[in-house]
Amino acid sequence: MDISTLCIHGSDDTSHNTGSVTVPIYQTATFVHPAVGQSTGYDYSRVQNPTREQLEKIVAKLEGGADALAFSSGMAAITVMMELFRIGDHIIASADLYGGSIRLFHSISEKNGIIFDFVDRMDSSNVNSYIKPETKAIFIETPSNPMMQVTDLFAISKVAKENNLLLIVDNTFLTPYFQNPIDLGADIVVHSGTKYLSGHNDTLAGFLVVRTAELSEKLRFIYKTIGACLAPFDSWLIIRGIKTLAIRMEKQQENAIRLAIWLMEQPKVKKVFYPGLNTHPDYDISIKQARGFGAMISFEVDSNETAIRMLERVNLALYAESLGGVETLITYPMLQTHADVDQTEREKKGINDKLLRLSVGLESIDDIIDDLAQALS
Ligand SMILES: *Cc1c(COP(=O)(O)O)cnc(C)c1O
Repeated sequence: MDISTLCIHGSDDTSHNTGSVTVPIYQTATFVHPAVGQSTGYDYSRVQNPTREQLEKIVAKLEGGADALAFSSGMAAITVMMELFRIGDHIIASADLYGGSIRLFHSISEKNGIIFDFVDRMDSSNVNSYIKPETKAIFIETPSNPMMQVTDLFAISKVAKENNLLLIVDNTFLTPYFQNPIDLGADIVVHSGTKYLSGHNDTLAGFLVVRTAELSEKLRFIYKTIGACLAPFDSWLIIRGIKTLAIRMEKQQENAIRLAIWLMEQPKVKKVFYPGLNTHPDYDISIKQARGFGAMISFEVDSNETAIRMLERVNLALYAESLGGVETLITYPMLQTHADVDQTEREKKGINDKLLRLSVGLESIDDIIDDLAQALS
């Protein structure tokens, strides 16, 4: 079945016979047992809830995984995933990551005894030099946040397999509509469901999608123990969001391509980071491994004053954190998503006081361009 059809018909809810076209919201904490030692399949909503279960089935199908687990946020998903590791385990992560992941690794995982190497522009040639006997996993985001670097997933997955490492890929930016890391060899796919899967800037959610039943079993145990599960109503909102994922991704990408080209022509814009521009260094890898480029653009303006003025002058584009919704958002990574990242580390990556990030929304792109033009003038 085509992915756009799966977005709409990916659930298989048979637990009710009302003819309801949508999955019901099972707003219950617990479930009655039919008899001693018997279960309807549901015991307690931390472990499983029928609404959440349908959402998980949809996401597992979209990513081609054996299972998907739905969490209360993307960070909750990554935090639970880190419980697969123990003191002394070593993880190789790309240096350019969502700021929250960097904060989790530095301030919590390291305290718990996990050791990290952060690799700038990780690829199959340089990753080998970081592998040691304690290495257990490679964690990447592609395209990365906010510098839009693309990692060759197939090449990295070969290295991971040869060395018996888990390959973990944060696929938030492209979504399963444009990219399926499991097909390219990943073992675990991470999503902030808050972003494109929800699509409307109205709820938080997170996912782990796993390649194997074995990983599912391990993570389900941690999941029910820790309890960072997605509520029934929020699960329902994400099911609804996913129904329009295909059309949103197509249109937001179309808008992003128009905007990236426009930005390139602006004298006050010095650099544009968007993998859909054929001048982007990773354009060829993007074409090879993904079906699209997404709708996230970072760009550097000529001065800090221009950046601040733009953030203060925009009307239609909203100066806010987050991404992936129908509203165009403009973000200042230095002060927002990456505020907790060490300054030298941050600036080395290019996240400086002139860098802005756009999550291109679903508005008419002409209106967005008019807004950005007046803000930039
Ligand atoms: C937002 C985001 C996260 C964290 O997700 P939350 O839902 O905000 O907890 C993780 N990775 C990426 C790439 C993100 O954009």
